[in-house]
Amino acid sequence: MTMREIYLNHAATSPRPSDTVRDAVIAYLREGGHASPGRNFEGLEDAQRALDARLAVGALFGVTHPSRVVFTPGATASLNMLLHGAIRRGDHVLTTSVEHNAVARPLALLEKQGVITVTRMRCAPDGTLDPAQVEQSLRPNSRLLVMTHASNVLGTILPFRECFAAAKRRGLFTVLDAAQTAGCIPLRMEPDMDAVAFAGHKGLGGLAGTGGFVLGKDSADRLEPWLVGGTGSASDSLEQPAFLPDKFEPGTPNTVGIVSLGAAAEELLAVGVDAVRRRAQSLTERFIAAASRLPVAVCGTGDAAKSVPVVSLAVADADPGILAGRLYREHGVLIRSGLHCAPLAHETAGTFPRGTLRFSFGRGTTEEDIDAAVSALDRVLAEEQKGMFVCREHG
Ligand code: PMP
Repeated sequence: MTMREIYLNHAATSPRPSDTVRDAVIAYLREGGHASPGRNFEGLEDAQRALDARLAVGALFGVTHPSRVVFTPGATASLNMLLHGAIRRGDHVLTTSVEHNAVARPLALLEKQGVITVTRMRCAPDGTLDPAQVEQSLRPNSRLLVMTHASNVLGTILPFRECFAAAKRRGLFTVLDAAQTAGCIPLRMEPDMDAVAFAGHKGLGGLAGTGGFVLGKDSADRLEPWLVGGTGSASDSLEQPAFLPDKFEPGTPNTVGIVSLGAAAEELLAVGVDAVRRRAQSLTERFIAAASRLPVAVCGTGDAAKSVPVVSLAVADADPGILAGRLYREHGVLIRSGLHCAPLAHETAGTFPRGTLRFSFGRGTTEEDIDAAVSALDRVLAEEQKGMFVCREHG
């Protein structure tokens, strides 16, 4: 009998597209697939599909103007475009101590090059942030605040609204990394939000290699294009077009990916992000309650209402990589171990450099999956403990 796989790594990427998304992609490949909007006549149909996708993704973020939705290869590309596009030499940038490397590395690079100075506002070990820190960290040359909506390690949701309000009072450009929240928590553009970066392949349910960003009403004027090249428009000029979305979408687009994202967004709109959130919260509660009875430390707030469906467990005296390997090989439970591309978050939580076991849930996760994963972990931990005891006894 083959072992059933229990996929609990949704924070990294959604495992496989839903039937609706798969069917949309296959139909597109069969019927369309010219892949070059704006470059040839057949491309008109692709441009229409991209527009449909922009409308659907925009609707998820409460944006009615489709050109304010920009497609990119993922949240990392979006964040690089937004950070490099908004930052100028001599600027001061505010961020937090739980950022993913998609934010932390571009900022560290600019810092190393002497372009900017950075203040990393310290979160508590459970990932919570006191928004008063924004006011305290501001300097005359502060240009930008970038922060994650929810930690991809601790699951903790950060108070971005309060932070952005304080930053906006001083005219900063505000960037939200919604990689962990888009499609998981209802999120609509508000006046204090200049840009929201999202991944298409996690909570939204699109293909890997998709993502984008959504812009506030006048926010594009404060951004220089960073990635430039052919757009199939205004080709007589050596300058990137100033209009949206072309200003930020050079090169031949990933039309297959965009079709997947459009279908995924339409599906989510039909299901309702509210409903997705309610279900994920109850699964997270169930997992935290069960895991709390094991010899592990549950990282984060321990409160599913204050978290996305991502829970890290710290295990004393055991290598998370070995435990994760055993969980998969012996029980079919697929999770992620280690640092999850967010060393700063682990430093904040006190789990650096060993890292954690991270369980993350998605729309396909069931109560049975949660129970099976916890009892598998229970068994693996007990066996490891026994093994360790034997090793110690034999020196
Ligand atoms: N930010 C956060 C908080 C993330 O969790 C991730 C993905 N792990 C990213 C950014 C990068 O997303 P992508 O893989 O789409 O570039």
